[in-house]
Amino acid sequence: MPHIQQLETHVADLIAAGEVVERPASVVKELVENAVDAGATAVVVEIRRGGMGMIRVTDDGCGIAPEELPTAFLRHATSKLRTPEDLGKIGTLGFRGEALAAISAVSRVDILTRQRGAGSGASLHLEGGAPGQVEEAGAPEGTTIRVADLFYNTPARLKFMKKDSAETAAVAGLMQHLALSHPDISFKFIKDGAEALHTPGDGKLDSTVYAALGRDFAKTLIPVEGRGGDTAVSGFVTAPLMGRGSRAMQVFFVNGRFIKSQLLTAALEEGYRNQIMKGKFPGCVLSVTLPVTAVDVNVHPAKTQVKFAREREVFDAVYHTVLDCLDARGGAIPAPRSPEQVVNPRRDFFQSMDAKTYREQGVKSEVRPPERQTPPVRPSAPARPAWDTEWKPAAKVADSAPEKPFYRTAQLPAKPVGSALGRPPASVAAKPPEAPPAERAPASPEPEAPVKPEAARRPFVPAIPAAQQALDLPGQQTIEPPKEAPWRIAGEVLHTYIICESEDGCVWLIDKHAAHERINFDRLKAAQTPPMRQTLLQPVAAELDREAGALLLENLELLEELGFACEDFGDGAILVREVPADIDAGDTAATLEELAENLRTGRDLAEKRENLLHTMACKAAIKGGWTSDVAELRVLVEKVQSGEVRFCPHGRPVAVKLTRYELEKMFKRA
Ligand code: ADP
Ligand code: MG
Repeated sequence: MPHIQQLETHVADLIAAGEVVERPASVVKELVENAVDAGATAVVVEIRRGGMGMIRVTDDGCGIAPEELPTAFLRHATSKLRTPEDLGKIGTLGFRGEALAAISAVSRVDILTRQRGAGSGASLHLEGGAPGQVEEAGAPEGTTIRVADLFYNTPARLKFMKKDSAETAAVAGLMQHLALSHPDISFKFIKDGAEALHTPGDGKLDSTVYAALGRDFAKTLIPVEGRGGDTAVSGFVTAPLMGRGSRAMQVFFVNGRFIKSQLLTAALEEGYRNQIMKGKFPGCVLSVTLPVTAVDVNVHPAKTQVKFAREREVFDAVYHTVLDCLDARGGAIPAPRSPEQVVNPRRDFFQSMDAKTYREQGVKSEVRPPERQTPPVRPSAPARPAWDTEWKPAAKVADSAPEKPFYRTAQLPAKPVGSALGRPPASVAAKPPEAPPAERAPASPEPEAPVKPEAARRPFVPAIPAAQQALDLPGQQTIEPPKEAPWRIAGEVLHTYIICESEDGCVWLIDKHAAHERINFDRLKAAQTPPMRQTLLQPVAAELDREAGALLLENLELLEELGFACEDFGDGAILVREVPADIDAGDTAATLEELAENLRTGRDLAEKRENLLHTMACKAAIKGGWTSDVAELRVLVEKVQSGEVRFCPHGRPVAVKLTRYELEKMFKRA
């Protein structure tokens, strides 16, 4: 081992700088926070090349005295803290006295400043932390700091920088949060010469939200205000019916500081319990104010997390504020539609087959107008009769057969010929929803009599004699007879769970959304060809938060692969002309928002792709709450029974089993 020795100051400074200055956005954050602490009423942030070329922050705050200018750049030099006790009541955004030292250690800095009321100002140039001479200079009141060539002297860090556009996106997102947390300050953000954000600074949160997050989002908001104990809560939350596809639009401030907090997220979402659709999240801009002694901001170097002294009180304050406000609006909030009304709005369950199968059906499908409800594809030739379904040529069945509450069909294992993608077998896919499915069945010499509804009450009878299953399937080696009889579908409850009974006397509950999501996910993962698309009759302009918009624009190719044709619509908005055929066109903006979240959180390309596919699979799946037709349920049950589908892409189980014994125990029979 080499000798132990204390690091030279400049090496220690570089290491310390790494903690504070991770990327351009962290520089902007620190400089803007300094401006806010200096009492600025207007702050202008300008960046070039994502901040890697140049960052300039100008404020009209109190300025710095010329003689203190070099001190401001020393480590642990601050005007905001004096004693250890002060740490317990931090009211400023900065307090560590590290930012200017850290930033100047890894860049070239110029500062120009004049104190309010002072006759003249001063300037200073620093290079890699080494200060030049303080010079007298003419300057407007306030401070301008220019940071150039970030990380020029730390090549290792430079290597890890993302593309300029990703850095721009991060700064843009940050600027939104900073602007929102200070409605009384006017923020202007200029990227590569173009103004990207400008808030009025009139002290009103609603006009700030409008300017920072866009008109579309602002329109969905309702004001909330309340308090509990020492905690005051105010701001805006989205109306329950305007749930978002991700949590990206949940913006929290604690004492004016933008923070991320699971506690606040949980409190907010608890307020929406049972009021918001599954899979949707409330958006908010919520400001929580509490005594500075009741919150510890010194728990994270980037100061984006806080610790509350009385977590329960904060949780309750937020929860009750949100809940009371939503309750008070009860009349104004359109009651959620009853599940019966929420028939699968797309009626396109079976179109989640791959393009090849789809084309083989002989259907021209490239363009499907978004609003029109396309009936499922019909077969050109009738499918084989199911053993216990009254057999009619498929077309007739489609037109005339009444829906039966229960019916039994012979199912073969879900390994359709020539399909590795786990989509519904073609003949099943071909059934219209009203019709009992004439699924693939082994040849049965005589179609058998239809099952009467009362048959459902009879004990389980194997759907097809095992010996019969193997008959008459010359050349169809890929189709094996099922090992056990198909589960009987007893029905669907809560428009979410399918109840089945297996031959061995077990009850199965299947989460239909989870099952379908898994099927879609496997299909998308295995797909060799790009998905089918639908051209939107009217292109959708999706207004997203700026970071999300920039991330998507940066990944247009990936979006293209997924079936989206998008283009930059300016100002963070994205114009969408085509979407994948199996997602609801009305869901376009929410889907894009989720995709952006996938792009943001994915650690590498592989993880991003995987997450994108999750989202696409979920969006293309039938939803809990929708009414499904029996043919859809049958396909799902078949996949679960065959073991092909066990867990949803997020790892949640798709089916749960209740044995007879477990049921009997519940009823104290056993
Ligand atoms: P901190 O903000 O934690 O105190 P910094 O390194 O960010 O530490 O800043 C050091 C000091 O420089 C601050 O305490 C403040 O007195 C002064 N300062 C920095 N930026 C500004 C500014 N824009 N306007 C006025 N004073 C500033
Ligand atoms: Mg600071």
